[in-house]
Amino acid sequence: MKTGKIAVLAGDGIGPEVMAEGLKVLTTVEERFNFNLLKQSALIGGAAYDKKGHPFPDETKEICDNSDAILFSSVGGPKWSNLPPELTPERGALLPLRKRYNLFVNLRPIVVYPGLEQASSLKQELIKDLNLLVVRELTGGIYFSDPKWKKKNEAIDTMAYSRTEIERIAHFAFQAAKERRKILTSIDKANVLMCSKLWREVVTEVAQEYPDVECNHLYVDNAAMQLIRKPKQFDVILCGNMFGDILSDEASQLTGSLGMLPSASINAETSFGMYEPAGGSAPDIAGKGIANPLAQILSCALMLRYTFKLEKAATAIEQAVQQVIADNIRTIDIISDGCRQVSTSEMGDEIVKILVR
Ligand code: NAD
Repeated sequence: MKTGKIAVLAGDGIGPEVMAEGLKVLTTVEERFNFNLLKQSALIGGAAYDKKGHPFPDETKEICDNSDAILFSSVGGPKWSNLPPELTPERGALLPLRKRYNLFVNLRPIVVYPGLEQASSLKQELIKDLNLLVVRELTGGIYFSDPKWKKKNEAIDTMAYSRTEIERIAHFAFQAAKERRKILTSIDKANVLMCSKLWREVVTEVAQEYPDVECNHLYVDNAAMQLIRKPKQFDVILCGNMFGDILSDEASQLTGSLGMLPSASINAETSFGMYEPAGGSAPDIAGKGIANPLAQILSCALMLRYTFKLEKAATAIEQAVQQVIADNIRTIDIISDGCRQVSTSEMGDEIVKILVR
């Protein structure tokens, strides 16, 4: 029997609610596909600050260090937004997690499930059967480079990228494209930024090693426009940290709800990864039992695929999500006429029912 260890970091807001459903589904696929994951819960974010005085306490680091993967929900909320930057859940926990485990690949699959086309604000014919993958560099660029400071009347951020950083994310993206429709679009601002000039040069060189993948380059401003004009032209979108942050949120809206979108942050050299919904802690709906747990459940599928190489179990979860949508079962964020509205935990139960059928 395959075994492994995961750190379970539910965090703040809707985090604990959607995590409970992810774990329910994981337990079901463990039984069905005969594997066993040891799950150790730990505090993170605002919840950790309140109990331990730090959003990423040492006990949590130790549990994560001793795990094969981190299953994460979300952190943050108004209660902690005025803390010193290094103690906020986002700056004190999220960014250090990415850096500590060298999670340089961020993946966001953007899939419009049949039956959910009307949840998007775009015309249905533009997004019907949309399936694209955003590959974002996650540990370099302007979010991490020094110097970075702010004084009363002046502030500075630095954007830096090395050839090695660009090469490794580009290889990951080309390999992903090879398994898909074999089209890769690399995003930059090479007409203005030096980092982008290097980015384009390196991606062009790496492309020579993947002759079966069509490689295109787009400036980020044009890409932002093309994503809502004609999203189905894209297959794999490769971007640096900041452009990827912005474009992946834009792309997420093509599907209608953040509650449908999983993400994976991976160290491609070790397969260690952190898997989490693309959305945040949603303080506006926390505690109401109405959050959509499908992004968390789909994040479990990504974890099984990328860290544990359990493809069958991952696919079974994804098919169960597709089935629940086909059965017209919806949380409130994706509800439409003729569908049955369910709570967060009822949605988890429905997925389990499909998996044990
Ligand atoms: P958010 O993603 O939490 O919410 C944006 C909107 O999407 C809200 O209306 C929310 O109700 C809705 N939404 C999000 N997830 C949903 C789900 N599963 N089901 C139904 N609706 C859902 O973004 P925000 O309000 O800008 O941020 C709230 C907090 O989360 C902030 O403190 C922010 O810094 C933090 N945040 C954390 C992460 C993370 O932990 N990775 C990511 C983004 C934001």
